[in-house]
Parts: sequence; structure tokens; C-alpha cells
Amino acid sequence: MINLSQPEIQFTLQAVRQASLLVSQIQAELVSPAGTPPALTKNDRSPVTVADFASQALVGELLSRAFPADPLVAEEDSSTLQTPEEASTLKQVVHFLQRALPQADAEAVCRWIDHARPPAGDSAPKRFWTLDPIDGTKGFLRGDQYAVALALVEDGQVQIGALGCPELSDGYRPDLSGPGSLVIAQRGRGTWAASLADGSSAAQFHSLQVSGCQDPAAARLLRSFESGHTNADQIGDFSRLLGVQVDPVRMDSQAKYGVLAAGHGDLLLRLLSPSKPNYREKIWDQAAGSIILQEAGGQITDLSGKALDFSTGRELANNRGILASNGLLHQEALKALRSIGAA
Ligand code: AMP
Ligand code: MG
Repeated sequence: MINLSQPEIQFTLQAVRQASLLVSQIQAELVSPAGTPPALTKNDRSPVTVADFASQALVGELLSRAFPADPLVAEEDSSTLQTPEEASTLKQVVHFLQRALPQADAEAVCRWIDHARPPAGDSAPKRFWTLDPIDGTKGFLRGDQYAVALALVEDGQVQIGALGCPELSDGYRPDLSGPGSLVIAQRGRGTWAASLADGSSAAQFHSLQVSGCQDPAAARLLRSFESGHTNADQIGDFSRLLGVQVDPVRMDSQAKYGVLAAGHGDLLLRLLSPSKPNYREKIWDQAAGSIILQEAGGQITDLSGKALDFSTGRELANNRGILASNGLLHQEALKALRSIGAA
């Protein structure tokens, strides 16, 4: 079981839970639910922008109190929010944040968003936190899966990772009206899930374990919902080569790692999109999910089988794409990736 009395665990649980509840409130109020007339046009990204900044400001503020000396490598910075065009966005961020932090005003919000940001170009600090304030922004806008993802990295290795998934129940089951899931892993202490509302005592957590599937024909493969984030043709080639019978499950965000860690999926592929062959994964997109999978017994590498290296700054510069699995199918999947030229 994770160490609930450790200050880093307490901070992680508090930050991910509070940020997840805040962004799900923003989603409920600003994104019209499926079936109702849209309050915003389809291309209007403003709800996700508001939620993204609010989530990062909240985590930045909590970190500044819990570990004032720790750097935070996060997706957003406040420079765009401070432009005249974004004045109404900033106002909305302040409005929503005041529910969690009554002292929030425009100046404080920008300070919290930029809290402990390492200078651009610097190599990774020895110890740092990394945050995706909303992973799966497309899912957030579509009313599908998204996650708040936070991890602690020390000496290039993820030590703690947590995902807040408001649209997932029991750590793996898509459920748009349930209480949501909090999935957390600590190095050497396993992967655990609780409902987003719980998580203060050990009894509220249950352990997650990967599947025992050894037969590629029966494997359930997880992929990005967005075709632009992967290579759908190569996923087809890969499935045919391995004789995979089940259609791939399309899902946004690191919620996929919860599904895999809980044994409800067996393989996860992030292939390189043909339009972005040199894409490198952002560390906040993989840090929490990777430890959540590993501590549940699974394996994660890049497409050529190399371990993920979190010591190279904001991107996984030494890795290309991602293969994640229950461990049992990993070698066979790597072989297939080489055969189809995706490695
Ligand atoms: P998913 O929901 O699994 O597609 O992952 C969402 C994440 O994909 C976002 O947080 C982006 O940082 C990341 N992303 C954006 N563009 C690409 C790309 N071309 N290839 C892979 N991932 C991408
Ligand atoms: Mg992301």
C-alpha cells in the first residue's frame, strides 16, 4: 500500500483530487452535455483553456505550500493569459478558482500558474514534479475521458504518479455519471485506486493488477481516440500480424493506463503519426501513467524497447513513441513493431 503518512503522498492525493473536482465542475458548467444544444461552437476551446489554467494554478499553489523548493514542470505558462485578448479567460479562471482558494485574484493566479517553473533550456532538476493539468483536452471537450496527471521524478525515475479521472469508475470503467477515480502508484508499493471523493484511509483503496493475457489473439489493444496522435494504418498492420481479434479501444488521455493497470486492457500503443514523424512524448503525458502501469505489474518502453528516460527535460528526447503492456505480451509486441517498421 502507498504510504499515506508520507508528505509527498498526501500532497499528491490532495492536489489531484482537488484539481479533478474543480475541472469536472468547470466541464459541467461550461461544456454542454451530449444531446443538449451547444453553448459554444465546436471549435471553441475556451472551456478547456479555463479548466487547464485553473487546474495548474491550484496545483501550483498547493505545491508552493507543501514543498516550496520543488520545481514544477507543467504544460502551461501564464504569458498568454496575461494578454488583453485573454482578459475574459483570466476572469473566468479566477472565478472558478475562488471556490477552492477564496484568496485567488488575477495576480495570484498567474503567480501560481508559473510557480517553480524551471528556466527554459535547463536540464532536468534532480527532483521535480510534472503536471498535465488536463490530459486529453479533446476528450474533455467531447464529454469523454480526460485526466489530471501529476508525478514526482527523482534522478530521472518516476517515484510517485497519480491520475484523477472524473469519467472513470473503479480505476478503469468509463462512467460519465459516477464518482470518478483516483489512481496512484508509489515505487515499490503497488498501484491503488479509490473513488475521487475518497482516498483518506487505506481501506478506501483497492489494488490494481495487470491482466494475465498471454495470447495476442485475445489481447485488448488501447489507442488514442485522436487519429492524429497515432498511426491508425500501422495499428491495423500490427493487429493483423499478431492475429489480434478484438477491435482496438479508442480512449483519450492517460485514463488508458488505469484500464491497462486494472487488467481491462492488455496492450497500449502510441505510434508516430505520419504527419509528425519526429514527435517526442511530453513527460507529463507519460510520467504518472508509466509508474501506474509498472507498479501494477506491467511494462512500458518506447517502440524499440528502450526504457523511458525522464531526465531529458520537457520531452522524452531519447525515446520514440510508446509500447505499454501487461508485461506478458511485451516481447512479442516489440517483435511485431520491428516487423511492420514502426520501431
Ligand atoms: P491521447 O489522448 O492519448 O491522444 O493523448 C493526449 C496527448 O497527446 C496530449 O496531451 C498531447 O500532449 C499529446 N499529443 C499531441 N500531439 C501528438 C502527436 N502528434 N503524437 C502523439 N501525441 C500527441
Ligand atoms: Mg496531455
